[in-house]
Amino acid sequence: MSAFQAEDTGSIPVTRSEQKNAKQLAFFCLTFLIFIVNIYSWFKKINPQQIKGDIKVRIKQEKRNLVTTKIMIIIFLLLFFCSLLVPISNERQPVNSAKTRLISYENIDESERVLRQEIANRWLSNFNLVVEKTKDPEAMAVRSFVFSNCNLGLPKQDSLQVIKMDGWEKEGFFSLVCLIEADKKKGEVWSLYYNDFQGAAAFVDRPDWPKMILLRDDIPFSPVWAGLSLLHEARHAQYHFEAEKRQTALMPMAVEERLVHQFIHRQLNWLGGMPYAQLIQTEADFLETEMRKNSLTPGQQWTLPGKDPGLDQIWSKALSNLEYHMRLNTFWIQVNYLLVDRYHQGDKNKAKEQIIVNLYLSDSEQFDPRGVP
Ligand SMILES: [Zn+2]
Repeated sequence: MSAFQAEDTGSIPVTRSEQKNAKQLAFFCLTFLIFIVNIYSWFKKINPQQIKGDIKVRIKQEKRNLVTTKIMIIIFLLLFFCSLLVPISNERQPVNSAKTRLISYENIDESERVLRQEIANRWLSNFNLVVEKTKDPEAMAVRSFVFSNCNLGLPKQDSLQVIKMDGWEKEGFFSLVCLIEADKKKGEVWSLYYNDFQGAAAFVDRPDWPKMILLRDDIPFSPVWAGLSLLHEARHAQYHFEAEKRQTALMPMAVEERLVHQFIHRQLNWLGGMPYAQLIQTEADFLETEMRKNSLTPGQQWTLPGKDPGLDQIWSKALSNLEYHMRLNTFWIQVNYLLVDRYHQGDKNKAKEQIIVNLYLSDSEQFDPRGVP
């Protein structure tokens, strides 16, 4: 449900020793070449056949040669130390630029491309299904954004290969990366994403890596909730795209998250209709009484309802623990937002952002995402 930020994902090991060695070798060769040229010219100068004249001239010539030799040794030593300094200064440069992470468009493994494209197509068709159902203008704008700005990402060893989507023209702003179990063995980053990411989809924006939406395919999700998950992450991607286009700073994470949640709540209202609205009202009425009794504010204590408040009847039974929790979380945020609108006295947006922060800080969500509810 959330946008992964750079700090969430740990560091990426990068070895640049090959590049460093190549530079050092090139510099050393150049130094050596200059040294050889100098020696050669010196030998030419002391060639006895070329030295004519009397003994005084020869002594003068010898002295000059001695000075030349000393200068050459100093130059050689200087160049040699410079060649040692080059890789040291290079190591201080940022080494994780996004370009180095992208493998070229060549050498595509066709069977892998087909597999990932199939998974991406499944997600995209669920996403499309949701937008078709809600016909919400903002959702339609997100769809246009996705269809003109995304490509297919194939995880490789510690890197990402980016290719165009089947039949799509543009190279895109972000990659759809469909994670499969084999990705666990493709380096630290991919094993981290595969094992630790507790969601169906996640937008990842880190400075040293291509932007991507991770999608997992190993946990069952009903089409509507898979579509909503991608819609949520795609809205994050769109906010980042707009900021980059306008060259403005990103919104604070809690603000962006509130806006994305409010956007998704509106889609849920369209999809769930009256029964969903009724369920939210009933829960909000109950919670309001409880909160007033205990002098609590909405979202102050993050405790999800222990049992399904009736969501199975609206969305049919969740296909996995992950889907069950995602539905419940979203519902709970929506109920609390309604309570903020009803009776919160201060800045309502701030209060809603705090609810999101409390949710992410809460550790009450320990569950096996693959299990069945
Ligand atoms: Zn989010």
